[in-house]
Amino acid sequence: MGFSDFHGNSDVVHRLRDMLARGRFPQGVILAGPAGSGKYTLALMLAKSMNCLAPRHTDELPDFCGKCANCIRIAQSEDLAAHCSEAVDAREALRETDKKETRIFVQTHPDVLIIPPDPPQMMIKVDQVRRVIETIYFRPAEAKERVFIFTSSAFMKEAANSLLKVLEEPPEFATIFLLTENPGELLPTLRSRSMTVSLAALSAEQIESYLARHRPDWNARQRALVARLCEGF
Ligand SMILES: [Zn+2]
Repeated sequence: MGFSDFHGNSDVVHRLRDMLARGRFPQGVILAGPAGSGKYTLALMLAKSMNCLAPRHTDELPDFCGKCANCIRIAQSEDLAAHCSEAVDAREALRETDKKETRIFVQTHPDVLIIPPDPPQMMIKVDQVRRVIETIYFRPAEAKERVFIFTSSAFMKEAANSLLKVLEEPPEFATIFLLTENPGELLPTLRSRSMTVSLAALSAEQIESYLARHRPDWNARQRALVARLCEGF
C-alpha cells in the first residue's frame, strides 16, 4: 500500500513527493487532468502522506503506511460518489428550511474536508467556501496538515472570490487542492496563487499492464481490447 498503487504519471507523482520531502509543498495545488487520470486518488494519497502516523520512505521519497488511524480514515473518503449521494439523500430528508442551508461535504477525518459540487446546479457554492474559511485557521486536531479538496472547478462567482481571499494568505498548516479537467475554467487570479500540476490520461499499454496484474483471469486479447476501449479513462 502506498504511492506504488497509483497508476501512470510517475514523473508527476515523483515531483510532488520530492516537494513533500523538501518541505516545499505548495499550499494551493491545481490538479488538472482528464476524468479517470486519478486526480482525486492522488490528492487523497498526498493527504495521507502528509498526515501518516507511521510515515515511511519508498524509492527514497516520502510514502504513507495505509494502516494507521489517519490513513484509514482518509481512505474512507475514497468512494466519493457513494458519500455524495449519501449526503444528498440526508439533505433531502431535512425540513424545507434546513434543506436550503445545508451544503454537501464529505468528511471522514476531522482535518480533511472534501468539497464536491453541490446539486442541483453542480457548482461549488459560497456557503461551502465559507465552511473552509471557518475551519482553515484552526490548527489541525489529529493530523499535521489540514487538507481541503475541491473536486470540481465549477465555482459560483462569489464562491471563487471568497476562495481567492483564503489563497492569498493560507495558514502554514493548510493545503488546498483544486481538481479540474480544465484549468482554464478557474479564475486567472486563483491559478496565479496555486501551482498547476497536470496528469495525463493513461496509455493503452499502461492500462494493459494494470489489467495483467489485476485481471489475470482475462486473456491477453481481452485485456488489449478493454485497454483500447478505455482510452485512458
Ligand atoms: Zn499511515
